[in-house]
Amino acid sequence: MSENKKIEKINGVKGMNDVLPADAALWELFENTVQSVLKSYGFQQIRTPIVESTHLFARGLGEVTDIVEKEMYSFDDALNGDKLTLRPENTAGIVRAALEHNLTYDGPKRLWYNGPMFRHEKPQRGRYRQFHQVGAEALGFSGPDIDAELIAMCQRLWDDLGLQNIRLELNSIGDAEERQQHRVDLIAYFEQHIDLLDAEAQRRLYSNPLRILDTKNPSMQTMVNNAPKLFDYLGDESKSHFEGVQKILRHNCIPFTINTRLVRGMDYYNRTVFEWVTDELGSQGTVCGGGRYDSLFSIFGGKPTPACGFAMGIERLLELMKASGEAHNSSHCDVYLAHQGDEAQMQSFVLGERLRDAGLDVVLHCASASGAGSFKSQMKKADASGAAYAVIIGEDEAAVNTVTIKAMRAEDMDNNQISVPFEAAVDHIVNQMTGTTDAIDCCDDPSHIHIHH
Ligand code: ATP
Ligand code: MG
Repeated sequence: MSENKKIEKINGVKGMNDVLPADAALWELFENTVQSVLKSYGFQQIRTPIVESTHLFARGLGEVTDIVEKEMYSFDDALNGDKLTLRPENTAGIVRAALEHNLTYDGPKRLWYNGPMFRHEKPQRGRYRQFHQVGAEALGFSGPDIDAELIAMCQRLWDDLGLQNIRLELNSIGDAEERQQHRVDLIAYFEQHIDLLDAEAQRRLYSNPLRILDTKNPSMQTMVNNAPKLFDYLGDESKSHFEGVQKILRHNCIPFTINTRLVRGMDYYNRTVFEWVTDELGSQGTVCGGGRYDSLFSIFGGKPTPACGFAMGIERLLELMKASGEAHNSSHCDVYLAHQGDEAQMQSFVLGERLRDAGLDVVLHCASASGAGSFKSQMKKADASGAAYAVIIGEDEAAVNTVTIKAMRAEDMDNNQISVPFEAAVDHIVNQMTGTTDAIDCCDDPSHIHIHH
C-alpha cells in the first residue's frame, strides 16, 4: 500500500469532449475542405465571441424555444452582474456584430464561421453539450438565388468530403402575416382537440403552437397530421420565392424532397427552411439546418435586412465520414530521425532543420535521461509515426559522415535501405518523395550501401 494520500482526479465536463490527436487529422481534413469550398463561393470568415449577452438569444431565438427555455448555459458576471450566455448558436451573434459594425453598409455580405456552441442537453451519440458548428450567413440578399447558392454550397461540400447518403428536405414557412393567419386557425384546431394534447403541447398552445406539429408523441400523430398546413397559407410572393429556389436546384441537378412538416427550432425563420438528413446516424440524423431570416435584423432594432444561412454539426459529419469509410491519412510526418551517440544526435538535429527547410514534416527521436534507446525501439516509433522514410545515424555513420535512409513503405523490404553522404541526404529524400529519379553519385558505389539489422 502506498503511503501517499490518494489525489482525486479531475475529469472533463460531461458532454464536453476532447478531440485527441488520433481524431485531429479528420477534423483538419474537414475544416480545410470547408474553408476551400466556402472560399470558392466568395464567403468570408467572421469570428465572434463565445460569450454574448443573454438578452441577445432570448430576443433573437424567441423565449418559447427549446434552446432559450432549457438549453442555455447562462450565468451572472460575478464582478458586475451582467447576464451572460455561452452561445448556443451563432446566427444571433453574427447579426449583432453586423449591426454593431454596420457590415452591410456598402452592400450584402457573405460570411461564414466555425466554432464551439453550448447547449445543456442530454449527452448521447451525436448530441453533446459543447459541440461545433460551421455555418454560413448571407446578409442583405432577398432573392431565391442565394437560398439555392447556400444549398449548392452544402452539396459541394458533401461531394468533396465523399459523403453520399445525405438528402435535402425543403419547405417554405411563409411570411409573418401568413404564419399569423395559420396560427389563428391552428390554435382553433388544437382547441377542438384539447383532450388529445399532452402537457407540453397544452403549455405551448398559445405561446408556440407551431412547435406542437413537431411532437414525437405517437398518440398525437394522427391529430397533428390533420392539422391546418402552413403550406396552404402561403401567399403569391412566398410561393414564387419558393418556386424560384426549386427551379435553380432542379436546373443544377440538386435533388430534394419537400417536407411540408419541416419547421425549424428558432422563431426567426421565414420562407425557405431546409435540413440535410442522413439515416446513418440513428436518431441524430440532421447534419445541417438552415433557412431565411428576413426579420432578425429588425428584431435587434436594425434596418430591415433580408438574410439566409445554415449551420452544420461538425461532430455528426465527422461520424458520417468515419461511417462511410472516408480514408484519411493518419501519418504525422514524412521523415523520422533515429540516432545513437552524442555526435549522431547533433547531426540528426541539424539534418532535421535542413529537411524542414526543404518543406518536409520531420519528427526527431528525442532521448530520455538514459539515452536514445535501441534502434529497434526507435524503428518501432518510426513505423508508428507513419513516416515515409527513416533516417538512421549510428555512431559508425556519424564517424564517416554518412546516414542510412530507410524507405518505410517500400514494396521490396529486402532492398529498402541506402547509405548516402550526410550532405546528400536532403536531396535524396526530396527526390524520392517528389518522384524525381535523378541518380545520386553515391548510389553507384556499393561500399556506401549497408543494411542495418
Ligand atoms: P436537433 O433537432 O438535432 O436538436 P437542432 O434543430 O437543435 O437539432 P440546429 O440548432 O439547427 O439544431 O443546429 C444545426 C446543426 O447543429 C444540427 O443539425 C446538428 O447537426 C448540430 N447540433 C445541434 N445541436 C447539437 C448538439 N447538442 N450536439 C451536436 N450537434 C448538434
Ligand atoms: Mg436541438
